[in-house]
Amino acid sequence: MTKRRRWPWVVLLALVLLAPGYWWLFMESAEPEGAFTIDLAQVRRLANEVPGEKPSAIHFEPVAHFEFPGAAIVAGDGWGLEDMTVYAYQLVFPDQRVIVDTAMDEATAKQGGATAFDPEAFARVTKALSEARHVVVTHEHFDHLAGLATHPDAKALMAKAALTKEQLAEPSRMDPLVFPPAALEGYRPLETGALHALAPGVVLIKSPGHTPGSQLVYVQRADGAEALLLGDVAWHWRNVELVRERARLVTAVFLHEDRAAVLRELAELHRLAAAEPALTILPGHDAARVERAVAAGLLVKTFLPPAAP
Ligand SMILES: [Zn+2]
Repeated sequence: MTKRRRWPWVVLLALVLLAPGYWWLFMESAEPEGAFTIDLAQVRRLANEVPGEKPSAIHFEPVAHFEFPGAAIVAGDGWGLEDMTVYAYQLVFPDQRVIVDTAMDEATAKQGGATAFDPEAFARVTKALSEARHVVVTHEHFDHLAGLATHPDAKALMAKAALTKEQLAEPSRMDPLVFPPAALEGYRPLETGALHALAPGVVLIKSPGHTPGSQLVYVQRADGAEALLLGDVAWHWRNVELVRERARLVTAVFLHEDRAAVLRELAELHRLAAAEPALTILPGHDAARVERAVAAGLLVKTFLPPAAP
């Protein structure tokens, strides 16, 4: 056989050898095994046990954007770039405000590879953090935590920050963010069971997997409307809709994620979405889903300015 005749066989052999790897790293999601359970009746009970008035409104700020290939977000999707919007949320009560996720400052956004950043939106988040009664994050990744960690008054803010033990256990997960050690000095992290009532209408639901410190944040407004902020258990609604994980290359190499745990959580969220149509489930970075919630009157764009003292 001449050299010329041999090369198609070499290419074919290479494809046969590489195809399973491609499938494993970019296409395959796997089926959920075992169960993760959210007892929504219990969550609702806890949300109503804390004395005081529940939030009347949920505001949000889209602070920055990433662009990821579709398959990075949902294994098996295409290679076209898709938007990943970075949000901060402000729960507005008659007598207090609570921040859920703090987005990130411009320097951290650049380091982390963001493609767009809105300095005015972030300035509003910074002000709102100073005013808030509680600050919580869905998990310990920089695009959710840096707004707090890089805040000029980070040390003072820690007095009202409800960061959990799990969220602070592995600082390398915050990369490229380094939480200022001085701000953490003497800090006593929140240690909770599976459910924790944070404020009237607000319950934290432990959901380790994407990171050890991941938690869902359930919010019941005073008028009964309900939102479930997923953090990054799901990046987009398609993860829940199809019960499909991110590409394995992303979860194994970049995120060091407990993929089996996330799949169980996605399966439970999929079940909840069908069983509880009035509950609005909001993935971490899905602008279309957020816009729908705005149109439905659940979310309001732009934070309220600090209330007059
Ligand atoms: Zn995120």
